[in-house]
Amino acid sequence: GGAWSDGAEVRRAFIDKIVAGAAVAALLALPAAAAGYRLLEIDGLNVKWGEPLMRSGAEVSYGFAAAEVSMPGAINCRALAPIARLAAAWERDPERLAEIAAEAFGIWSREADLRFRPAAPGEPPDILIGAQGEPDRIAFANVWHGTGRQGIAPLTRAAICFNPLVAWSDGEGPDPAGALDLPTVLAHEIGHAIGLDHPGATGALMGYSNQGDIDHLMPGDVAGAVALYGPARD
Ligand SMILES: [Zn+2]
Repeated sequence: GGAWSDGAEVRRAFIDKIVAGAAVAALLALPAAAAGYRLLEIDGLNVKWGEPLMRSGAEVSYGFAAAEVSMPGAINCRALAPIARLAAAWERDPERLAEIAAEAFGIWSREADLRFRPAAPGEPPDILIGAQGEPDRIAFANVWHGTGRQGIAPLTRAAICFNPLVAWSDGEGPDPAGALDLPTVLAHEIGHAIGLDHPGATGALMGYSNQGDIDHLMPGDVAGAVALYGPARD
């Protein structure tokens, strides 16, 4: 499959500037992050769901775009199209989409105190997942946050958008040649949507050059999620 080099994807919607080139250059100049993770930093603030307090848990809802959603000011996912545009992978089984999401969110909630749940009917989801209205590269995430305190700001909204022109695999095959694994890419984008950046190119689910060879959390990914939300509670 093609590389999903998505180093440019994370933006705060209401800052209308492109920071990605600089951010990626900075990453390349750094040695691998010692702890194997890197927290998103937006205007000098780390961002997380729930209390703006490190190592504190959160409940986060998610849902899928059923209609066009316009996000003016966002650089990525500006036009979010219905998830059905990615239908090829699960047209044969609509339930599979819910399973894929549960799988991808579960990768994180098994390790950190994050309780994900599907949004109730009519409830705007915290994390909205859809197709790109303007297809570009592989997938992107956008995050929005509120007022920060002591260097941490609460996330208020996130969007994840997938390029509908990419051949997506739902992990159950048979897949077209070069198909990208949707659960893995979703898990990576969820990492951004909960406040994690790329620690480097490889060696982590959150690596920006992860070509799908890492489909689970590496120790650094776990450490990053736990730094933000604390360990999973049983
Ligand atoms: Zn990424």
